[in-house]
Amino acid sequence: MSSTAEMQAFRQAGDVAGRSLALIGAPCDVGAGLRGASLGPDAIRIAGLARRLRGLGHGVRERGNLIGPENPEQPAADGYRHLEQAIAWARAIHDEVHRSLTEGECPILLGGDHSISVGSVAAVARHCAEAGRPLSVLWLDAHADFNTAATSPSGNLHGMPVATMCGNGPPQLLELGHARPMVEPAHVFQVGVRSVDTIERETVIESGVRIHDMRRIDEIGMRAVMEQVLDEIDRIGGHLHVSFDADFVDPVIAPGVGTPVPGGPDYREAQLCMEMIHDRGLPGSLDVVEVNPALDEQNRTARLAVELVASVFGERILARVAQS
Ligand code: MG
Ligand code: MG
Repeated sequence: MSSTAEMQAFRQAGDVAGRSLALIGAPCDVGAGLRGASLGPDAIRIAGLARRLRGLGHGVRERGNLIGPENPEQPAADGYRHLEQAIAWARAIHDEVHRSLTEGECPILLGGDHSISVGSVAAVARHCAEAGRPLSVLWLDAHADFNTAATSPSGNLHGMPVATMCGNGPPQLLELGHARPMVEPAHVFQVGVRSVDTIERETVIESGVRIHDMRRIDEIGMRAVMEQVLDEIDRIGGHLHVSFDADFVDPVIAPGVGTPVPGGPDYREAQLCMEMIHDRGLPGSLDVVEVNPALDEQNRTARLAVELVASVFGERILARVAQS
């Protein structure tokens, strides 16, 4: 393998049928403790996401960046920071993601902090309810994101989206959903968790969310964990929404995130996870969140995110091709 061109020749899509994908930017960081995730959508675009996905045979429609409130950098009030602003973002995201789904696209929401996923999951859940299809959510994250106003030490809404979609959150965000909960907690699968606050741990376990933390990945391996998760998702059937928080990956290779936690999946484990998702079929929608260029090193984290998203949509690395 002597040249980049030859390497690229081996990085071909396998049996991927072209899909209509849509990129939707949500330059929002009102839900995070540190600013900068609002620069994520363009960093991911600059890292070449659309080109990579088109190279895999997919159609890619650029729907542009949504517009929402600025970050007022205020302290928490009644347990939440920037709730009013987060609601405005979530509504805009909900409406655009729902439009994209209605037009038959697979929306890829580029964040932005993770609070924006309340908007995308609300839209996906509404779309699934309209189509009579079940919904599963695969949450790839170092965090459980299951805090509430009562349990959050910071009030930052990017620590609360899973609790909210499971029916426990601020009323104005719950109203975005077609029902409460937006998604059945038992249909939410978390992989990579390694940082959970004490009370949050109790509430997330009680909720019935399926948690596969790093201890479990250490013990049985990413392959076995993902086989179990994807088997359950296959049994549920219907629409799969993948929510990928860049801090899922170990910060050694993904330093550009606001809340890094050591001990995450390494490059190969993260790639295996994404390739195994693809092996079961393309997801119906995807979030790519928490890439923070202000904390990154020469756009490394956005470039890694592009590689991982490309794997979800069919790119295969050399070793896999050589074996088959
Ligand atoms: Mg998160
Ligand atoms: Mg996280």
